[in-house]
Amino acid sequence: MRIGLYPGTFDPITLGHVDIIQRAMALVDRLVIGVAINRDKGPLFSLEDRVAMVEAECNAIAARTGGEIVVHPFENLLIDCARDVGASVILRGLRAVADFEYEFQMVGMNRALDSSIETVFLMADARRQAIASKLVKEISRLGGDVSKFVTPPVEEALQRKFAKA
Ligand code: ADP
Repeated sequence: MRIGLYPGTFDPITLGHVDIIQRAMALVDRLVIGVAINRDKGPLFSLEDRVAMVEAECNAIAARTGGEIVVHPFENLLIDCARDVGASVILRGLRAVADFEYEFQMVGMNRALDSSIETVFLMADARRQAIASKLVKEISRLGGDVSKFVTPPVEEALQRKFAKA
């Protein structure tokens, strides 16, 4: 059984993430979505809220595709998380050149820590490649329409968040 780990901050989950999840599911028998606590990034949504949103999207994807998806919050080292969930492959999305430098370093370091775990990069559909959680938050904060970038429940969660602020 091939288990893949797709880690990220998912603050919040976007249609770019959803695209990668669907592609990743075609490659593995079980996909674990690792939701990183990532205190350093100062996430807008709590870990609990991010996990709940990822779970809702994954339930919808699993219902459509019939695949197995598990959501797993983690705070430890990525490579340890991969070992904990029995993953032999880490899946990451690649957007523009800007992502490359950081991802390149991560693969090198992770390979040094555990050479048995391979990292695979996937690219989203052209219409979804530019979507970034950071910009979605910015647009929503300023009252813009993010319906092309996230699903309706995530859009509503963003609106609630910024209505309170
Ligand atoms: P991280 O803090 O690990 O970068 P993110 O939630 O921002 O967490 O992203 C998780 C993964 O999803 C990363 O590999 C990122 O490159 C990928 N990703 C995010 N948005 C897109 C997108 N629009 N197209 C392709 N990959 C994406």
